[in-house]
Amino acid sequence: VPPHARMEPGGNVKVVVRVRAFLPREIERNAECLIEMDPTTQKTTLKVPNDSDPANARARSRKVVEEKSFTFDRSFWSHDPADEHYATQEDVYDSLGEEFLDHNFEGYHTCIFAYGQTGSGKSYSMMGTPEQPGLIPRTCDDLFERIAAAQEETPNISYNVRVSYFEVYNEHVRDLLVPVVPGQPPYYLKIRESPVEGPYVKDLTEVPVRNINEILRYMRAGDGNRTIASTKMNDTSSRSHAVFTIMLKQIHHDIETDETTERSSRIRLVDLAGSERAKSTEATGQRLREGSNINKSLTTLGRVIAALADPQKKSKSSRGSAAKGGGGGVVPYRDSILTWLLKDSLGGNSKTAMIACIAPSDYEETLSTLRYADQAK
Ligand code: ADP
Repeated sequence: VPPHARMEPGGNVKVVVRVRAFLPREIERNAECLIEMDPTTQKTTLKVPNDSDPANARARSRKVVEEKSFTFDRSFWSHDPADEHYATQEDVYDSLGEEFLDHNFEGYHTCIFAYGQTGSGKSYSMMGTPEQPGLIPRTCDDLFERIAAAQEETPNISYNVRVSYFEVYNEHVRDLLVPVVPGQPPYYLKIRESPVEGPYVKDLTEVPVRNINEILRYMRAGDGNRTIASTKMNDTSSRSHAVFTIMLKQIHHDIETDETTERSSRIRLVDLAGSERAKSTEATGQRLREGSNINKSLTTLGRVIAALADPQKKSKSSRGSAAKGGGGGVVPYRDSILTWLLKDSLGGNSKTAMIACIAPSDYEETLSTLRYADQAK
């Protein structure tokens, strides 16, 4: 098995955008769709809001007059199911998930992030619904299908799959595969650094899975634990980052030489905390601290991805981080728990994708998401 090959410089980051349909509350207030996407150029345009929508009063008071356009690797139009260009869950998987799984079988680590304000479609894109499964269940499904096919064709390769699921809340790590005990406060795991493996979560549950049903069961259990804890703690799920990890090991047995070689890759699927800016007048104490921690991780993540996408920015940020005593690393991984823990899957031999999720009629938040996505590419 050849060692991990390096990606072409700049070819290891992909940024896509996806706009969702109106929700009942938006239909009720007669919201206007501010998004236009061009399926041939992949250009996404944010239009100037009209005068009658109260939700965009702030944009009007800033006297926004110009529409804003951005070009991403893909623009997914998931706004109007009747439209011929409508992007289904399957379309998103086919154009992103499938390619990333190819990379995993080639031995690369991958990370796919869903970014956006609360209610913009992050969980829908990552997890989906039972009727409309998202990237995570589709990746699991495809993974075990490919393993089954490969075992028929190449019986000298065996496969080992393990899974973990954790969330980062307020710069603390919680194991989502450990059931929430009623009446007990959630407990947090410690972060350690190994000279070989780099940063890792100590005592994190990692379970072996043999088939699609087992992996989906852990996925749902983890999701359930996230929801239970979140309900108890005042809806923390929109303020935490959920990291679903699949560890794939391919064990190649050479029949002629009787040698065994292993190829390991990690598949990270991350539902990020809501990116909405904390409204400074409402946030105090705990909320304010959470807000600034969310901002810190999202800002750091943006800088890390931008540094990976653009080697020139990378050298700039390396100087910046060395000046701040950032451990001499080239990319500011250490500036947040999330990026520090994902260090192995960001950069080096890895592929990263960001799905910027946007609501159709929220000018300010959408502009901020599009700008974030734009600087990450
Ligand atoms: P977030 O995770 O960003 O807070 P959700 O994924 O929960 O947002 O989406 C908010 C609501 O919008 C949910 O009811 C979800 O089912 C719906 N939704 C989001 N994206 C889509 C889409 N592409 N098509 C249909 N419904 C969607």
